[in-house]
Amino acid sequence: MSLTGSCLCGASTFEAELGPMGAGACHCGMCRKWSGGVYLSVDCGESVKFKEGAPLGSYKGSEWGERVFCKDCGSSLLWQTQDGKNQHVSIQCFEDPSQFEIGMELFIDRKPSSYALEGERNKMTEAEIFAMFADMEVEK
Ligand SMILES: [Zn+2]
Ligand SMILES: [Zn+2]
Repeated sequence: MSLTGSCLCGASTFEAELGPMGAGACHCGMCRKWSGGVYLSVDCGESVKFKEGAPLGSYKGSEWGERVFCKDCGSSLLWQTQDGKNQHVSIQCFEDPSQFEIGMELFIDRKPSSYALEGERNKMTEAEIFAMFADMEVEK
């Protein structure tokens, strides 16, 4: 499925393809600080193509991750691994976020008790996620 999206001011527009993991929520402390809420994102593989001249900034928040934002309006746009693969785009960049079903909640043990998402879905703790990444490292 082909998708288009943009930041708040419209200077950073992009095209992307929907990836196999669909949409998920991340409750980790970095995502919450960066996005200003729970980070809801859509897997776009490595397909995101920004408009030429888009005023993009990036922040390397961890050894492997990078967060891309619009320098003009400050909108959070996507999290990606530093090799530019595994791009997870903010669901709020898209015209109709309700087109994506939130299939997974990550870092559920980092979620503040002050909010919760409605509905049932797969949930992963920090320990489960790091175990999964460790397995992926071995496969390389
Ligand atoms: Zn912008
Ligand atoms: Zn996170």
